[in-house]
Amino acid sequence: MRITDIRELSVPLEGNVTNAVVSFAEHTVSLVAIVSDVVRHGKPVVGYAFDSIGRYAQGGILRERILPRLMKAVPESLLDASGTRFDAARVLQCAMRNEKPGGHGDRAAAIGAVELAIWDLNAKLADEPAYATIAREYGRPAAKRTVDVYAAGGYYYEPGQGKTLGDEFRTYRDLGFSAFKMKIGGAPLAEDLKRIEEALSVAGSGSHLSVDANGRFDLETALVYAKAIEPYQLRWYEEIGDPLDYWLNAQVAQAYAGPIATGENLFSVPDAQNLARFGSMRPGRDIFQMDAGLSYGLTAYARMLTMLEAHGFDRRQCYPHGGHLINLHIAVGLGLGGCEAYPGVFQPFGGYAAQCALGASTVRPSEAPGFGLEQKAELRPVLTQIMA
Ligand code: MG
Repeated sequence: MRITDIRELSVPLEGNVTNAVVSFAEHTVSLVAIVSDVVRHGKPVVGYAFDSIGRYAQGGILRERILPRLMKAVPESLLDASGTRFDAARVLQCAMRNEKPGGHGDRAAAIGAVELAIWDLNAKLADEPAYATIAREYGRPAAKRTVDVYAAGGYYYEPGQGKTLGDEFRTYRDLGFSAFKMKIGGAPLAEDLKRIEEALSVAGSGSHLSVDANGRFDLETALVYAKAIEPYQLRWYEEIGDPLDYWLNAQVAQAYAGPIATGENLFSVPDAQNLARFGSMRPGRDIFQMDAGLSYGLTAYARMLTMLEAHGFDRRQCYPHGGHLINLHIAVGLGLGGCEAYPGVFQPFGGYAAQCALGASTVRPSEAPGFGLEQKAELRPVLTQIMA
């Protein structure tokens, strides 16, 4: 068995929305297709994946470095001992040949997309959904197939725009969500507090509402906000300062009683380990949001979980960033706390296929082979395009 072709396509993200730091309108995502020499129903079996939402495609890194290494590898060196499946850890090792440690950046997302396509391919070779392949690989029970999901959004609206934050959350509530996340830090504190109260009028209580500062605050602002929002007893206070400022995270964790969440912009096991060691994250309370597609794929993500558990954390404290099908299968397969959803935005990648059961703030993957990307109507045109 061997790889016959690997393709990559840079796909624009439809997301004309803004958080406290970036506009998503210019963002792109790398879609990867790994073509095998296994033929089923007259067609080669193809593994598809993408990195994640909220950054940029990595076509240059993929074309110039990662894909040539994999295509030049001895085919058997990328297989497991049985020779019937690709070995994701070996693929990761081959992709990283001649790369120095540290400075992970866009390389981690480029390799993440490729490594995840291997999981889609392996699941299709076994003719099963990816969550089942993942659970078996890591010795997890595959019984619980539904995970907690919340609607992430809560953007800023200009007065007179004809839409408010409350309108946005009511739309999510009508779709079956009862937990929500909103942006903060893009307006003065007094205005953000009014927005939080508007959101709470839909969410019902603080336990159903999280706030996300997108890494914007310095320590002083972080602590002012912490004191102001503490009485709301929110579900969590997310990405408060710079993602690599573990000291700031620790200061807030020591001053703020409620849960805090971070990790979506940490792209390696050593970065996540620094958060666990130096960020004062609290076992049983705080939330880790590392995203396999941005951090070398599932093999590395599973190593992060092992590391977190060694530090006394529970994997149910993990809610990967990126509301899409790949992270849904990962959350189910690895028994994580849950995942997020961005209803209606970040197409074609955001959200779930119609065949996934979504309701009562839970979501369940379908039984389609692999990650089931082919079932998602918005993705089908780009899956066709990458194979044309
Ligand atoms: Mg976030």
